[in-house]
Amino acid sequence: MSDSKNDGAPFCDLIEAARKAVRLAYCPYSNFPVGAAIKTHSGLIYLGANIENASLTQTKHAEEVALMNAVGNFELLNATRIGLDKKFAFVRSLAIYVPKAPGTWPCFNCRQTLSEFFRDQPIITITGPGEDDFEIMRFSELAPHGMLASDVLEAARSTD
Ligand SMILES: [Zn+2]
Repeated sequence: MSDSKNDGAPFCDLIEAARKAVRLAYCPYSNFPVGAAIKTHSGLIYLGANIENASLTQTKHAEEVALMNAVGNFELLNATRIGLDKKFAFVRSLAIYVPKAPGTWPCFNCRQTLSEFFRDQPIITITGPGEDDFEIMRFSELAPHGMLASDVLEAARSTD
């Protein structure tokens, strides 16, 4: 997917949500707030922000929190109930906003987490304060060679 600004209109609400989500960040150790927003199949948007912990390794990233919010609010379960049998239809898109480093893409930890539910959906990074300040990339372009659930499940079912 190109980063054409003409593609942006459908993402205006998602981008605005990611900008708002950054205010939810709890980041006393890094002072590096991150906001994320995920739009699901229902059209609803779920917010996430980084939530740090004194142990640091227990920190949750904004993208993970947004995904947990969506799953925890029945979006995955409801997608299955209405016949969206592929879990990849559960999420439509994700936007991330890192005000201290605009244009940052999800970290590799989050790319692995997102790979459970994302395939070709658009991922948006906000690059500045303007309404046209963003770039879009498909998840498959962002994480082309991730460890996929299908690979692990196939190996787990193998009798070898
Ligand atoms: Zn991350």
